[in-house]
Amino acid sequence: MANRHDFKTEAEALQAQLVAWRRDFHMHPELGFEEHRSAGIVAEQLRVLGYQVQTGIASTGVLGLLKGARPGPVLAARFDMDALPITEENEVEYASREPGLMHACGHDAHMAIGLGLATLMAQQRDEIAGTLMLIFQPGEEGMNGAEVMVKEGVLADPRPDVFLAAHVWSDSPVGTINVSSGPVMAAAERWACTVTGKGGHGALPHQTIDPIVAAAQIIGVLQTIVSRNVSPQETAVVTVGAIQGGDAFNVIPAQVTMSGTIRTYNPNVREMVIRRVREVVEKTAAACGAQANLNIEQLTPAVINDAEIAQIVHSAAETLVGADHVFSGERTMGSEDAAYFMEQVPGCYFFLGAGPPGQEAPAPHHNPRFDIDEAVLSIGVAILAQTLAYYLLRQ
Ligand SMILES: [Zn+2]
Ligand SMILES: [Zn+2]
Repeated sequence: MANRHDFKTEAEALQAQLVAWRRDFHMHPELGFEEHRSAGIVAEQLRVLGYQVQTGIASTGVLGLLKGARPGPVLAARFDMDALPITEENEVEYASREPGLMHACGHDAHMAIGLGLATLMAQQRDEIAGTLMLIFQPGEEGMNGAEVMVKEGVLADPRPDVFLAAHVWSDSPVGTINVSSGPVMAAAERWACTVTGKGGHGALPHQTIDPIVAAAQIIGVLQTIVSRNVSPQETAVVTVGAIQGGDAFNVIPAQVTMSGTIRTYNPNVREMVIRRVREVVEKTAAACGAQANLNIEQLTPAVINDAEIAQIVHSAAETLVGADHVFSGERTMGSEDAAYFMEQVPGCYFFLGAGPPGQEAPAPHHNPRFDIDEAVLSIGVAILAQTLAYYLLRQ
């Protein structure tokens, strides 16, 4: 970290502005691909700071480019912008003004951190060797806005060398940072199937092919994929999340429908589990004399951190918050579409402790009472700036 900046102090000097941005975004949440107001504020602010701005990527996405005085690597940082269809229950002055909409995942904080980082880095422009790309992404919440941005060429010119993204995390106390190498968020698929048998009288099962019994067998055998096919050293989830079949106590229906999700980290395990789910569903149905029609939709790849970049983020974090506040091992089987950027560019996705003050068990993400400790805002700016400095501000 050979640079003479004190990013902690510089970011703390922006704290009032960061809080103002965050609260403004919080009061005016917008759903994925509808972030017109948020994107407008972001684009305007980036222009004022002297960034080259491109808007309208994946509908509402914004790209800000800051070219330094000297050539060097291209660093990308991603900030998501969308809110959720949730009615806020917090009684705070900055509560959502939009009924039925809420920033309940902290993407309001991400936008504020992005603008704070933009401000801080613009001040170093003459010292920067390389290019900074700030990507403000629409539709993270199950909408794969990242995939659309990648398809629309956001990584094409310039092509980033390193990708960074951070998520505020209400589960961890503010002032802590969690950085791991390897997988941190899972690959996700959605599967759905229809099991077709032959309906008939509930008292005359021999005249039917019972899809309810077939579905029950399928559910049982699906449990053996994780327990018997996946190595105990690996991680996977196969969940049946919905099942529908039949209307009457004395009727064997003709069809049962089921759906669920698959979560994995390792791409080889992902491929194997998908193949086994297909075999189990189709062949177990066949063994029962029924027929299964299965559709598996691959939603997002896993988020896998590059070991070297994770190490650089880790030491930047230690510089800022002290080694006793930096942790590893925060991994979830949730998914995150930053994976689409990270399939193309090596990077690091890490977690910023944001537990609200005075709460022992803070409301989880996507809860109507979700909130953050706003001290995370300047910490987020500082850790990203400190990491960027390693690449862009080397003397
Ligand atoms: Zn979320
Ligand atoms: Zn989120």
